[in-house]
Amino acid sequence: MKLNEVTLSHHYADLGDAFGTRIDPTPFEHPKLIHVNPAVLELLGIDESEADNPDWARLGCGSKPFKGSRPFAMKYTGHQFGVYNPDLGDGRALLLGELEHKGKLWDLHLKGAGKTPYSRFGDGRAVLRSTIREYLAGEALHGLGIRATRALCLVGSDEPVTRERIESGAMLIRVAETHIRFGHFEYLFYTRQLEALKQLIDFTCERFLPEAQSLPDNEKAEALLRFTVQRSADLAAGWQAAGFAHGVLNTDNMSIIGDTFDFGPYGFLDDYEPEFICNHSDHTGRYAFEQQPGVVLWNLNALAHAFSAFVETDSLKDCLEEFQPHLVDAYAARMRSKLGLATEEDGDRKLCADLLQLLADSRADYPLFFRALAHYRGERPPAALNELVPAAQQEALAQWLDHYDQRLAREDSDSSARNRAMLRSNPKFVLRNYLVQKVIDAAEGGDYRPLQTLFELLQTPFDEHPEHETWAAAPPESGKHMPISCSS
Ligand code: AMP
Ligand code: MG
Ligand code: MG
Repeated sequence: MKLNEVTLSHHYADLGDAFGTRIDPTPFEHPKLIHVNPAVLELLGIDESEADNPDWARLGCGSKPFKGSRPFAMKYTGHQFGVYNPDLGDGRALLLGELEHKGKLWDLHLKGAGKTPYSRFGDGRAVLRSTIREYLAGEALHGLGIRATRALCLVGSDEPVTRERIESGAMLIRVAETHIRFGHFEYLFYTRQLEALKQLIDFTCERFLPEAQSLPDNEKAEALLRFTVQRSADLAAGWQAAGFAHGVLNTDNMSIIGDTFDFGPYGFLDDYEPEFICNHSDHTGRYAFEQQPGVVLWNLNALAHAFSAFVETDSLKDCLEEFQPHLVDAYAARMRSKLGLATEEDGDRKLCADLLQLLADSRADYPLFFRALAHYRGERPPAALNELVPAAQQEALAQWLDHYDQRLAREDSDSSARNRAMLRSNPKFVLRNYLVQKVIDAAEGGDYRPLQTLFELLQTPFDEHPEHETWAAAPPESGKHMPISCSS
């Protein structure tokens, strides 16, 4: 379809006043179109040629509404760093409506769109820096086969926005199958709006679990919780295998359908450091890389509590107990692909754990190590791999490779086929924080070419792109552990 044919519905706003507030965006005076995402255009069924339509600048900053748009600030609450905060909601983003394509509804959500009743002390804005971070992160995870919200377009401005320094405001249109978070359910539960809570469970099931539609209320709620438990376990497995740390796993940043949601101070691992904390403000390491699966389960417990209005405690526990086995299976499957194992053996978990211990001891670069392993054909000494670990660990590496060789021999692994498969599971291009920073620095100076380059690489992160070798390099020492703050 053409851009001027885009017409939105808004089933969420139709739910009523208990769910949020109808409010218009505060547009930029001088919007500047920075990027339109061709992959998301395709997802939405909008003609690729519309990427050049100048209307995006105004559509993407709220000064020109899409047909049918009814901007709506969604109300939710949530647990932040373990503490319940009753005072949350869309404080700077508005659900514009839904666009249907191929039988699927896609939410369009304008982020950075100005103050809402839920802005508290905030200015309702987002800065160019954080907007670029979110824009790229959705693509990076999607490119790795991990569920994530994405963004349709990115619009900058000359509007000053004060964070630790003065920055410029920007907006993006976030696209997701839903913007319903764990916190939406918590809000209705804690304010005892149980009819509305039932309505929200119905609404979510209608969209994502049609087979549960005819069940009685308690079973429907249970089915939804079970669905979210499984999706969340898959998600956590994907993050752990990819070396992705979300940074702020509060329940208001958890999507009910298991999308990676709300990108703040996230980080992809450079060196393999299980205890990596990417959020500068996370002093206790609650959201450290290795804590993520446990924290996701904690968040699911908080969600289950909201469902206790309809579901017996024993059934809630049964649902939650499915998390661990599902996580283990999903993670094992992803790691088998990374290791090029076509079959499953009991010892695989130990083989993988031993390698991760070795990488942790070595502080080896996580993406580079696996990419090099994808080229491994049993050579001794394993020159390319040895380059990535200190001399002190090379003996341990040789021993691990002996076990790996034996394991490969047991499944008659063919090096060429294995290498090819592993190169599709171990990306060459990873959204490392130092690369994002490089893109942001250029963009703040008005040069969007690095943004375009990195964007394109993240669409096909497994391809070689020999002309872009510098984007595949490990960071300089100064580019590791960049203090990424929550401010956005
Ligand atoms: P976040 O830390 O981005 O997940 O946001 C937590 C809560 O603060 C959400 O309710 C946001 O809508 C709100 N919020 C974050 N930044 C701002 C801002 N600049 N202005 C208004 N509300 C904000
Ligand atoms: Mg958030
Ligand atoms: Mg290192």
